Amino acid sequence: MPDETFIYPAEPVLVEYPHPVLRKKAAPVTVFDDALRRFCRQLFAVMELEKGVGLAAPQVAVSKRIFITEHTRRKGHEGEPDPRVWINPRIEDPDGETVFEEGCLSFPAIYSKVIRHNRFTAVWQDEFGEERRQVLDHAAGDFLAIVVQHELDHLDGKLFVDYLNDLQFNQIRKRLRELEDAYRKTTGRAGSVIRR
Ligand SMILES: [Zn+2]
Repeated sequence: MPDETFIYPAEPVLVEYPHPVLRKKAAPVTVFDDALRRFCRQLFAVMELEKGVGLAAPQVAVSKRIFITEHTRRKGHEGEPDPRVWINPRIEDPDGETVFEEGCLSFPAIYSKVIRHNRFTAVWQDEFGEERRQVLDHAAGDFLAIVVQHELDHLDGKLFVDYLNDLQFNQIRKRLRELEDAYRKTTGRAGSVIRR
């Protein structure tokens, strides 16, 4: 469907693993209009309701290259609000490694440590189509560096549990099964389950 006729949902609702939309590669945004900006505001409402620090459009079943962040909502580290919209984002010049225990609104009650780039330049467009760039450095205190990498993965159908080693995966296996069972009960479908 061409972007011009794309209809954002009237009321975006969070989807959970193993909904297949979470595995789709999302399409670039080409139209920066009021409908897009309204959708972004709704994403913030969903994220606040779910008490997240980031939310990607595929997590409300919209396969578009959009995510939002509010890294100052991190528990115990609250600061001045800094809500951000990231459209058609990419990472340049990744450098170093860092480890952080991540969670995901689409994987309730699952947490595990993931290895990420420590430092990189984020390049993206805001909700008006304006290009933005910022260097993010986790070791220098940018929690946002973790959030951006996690959310960017969502736009390529990649999920934080994909990074886990066998030991880590075994620790969350039971919880994944519970989510798979719940999805099957409500939809009658298996969804995109992880076989490992
Ligand atoms: Zn996530």
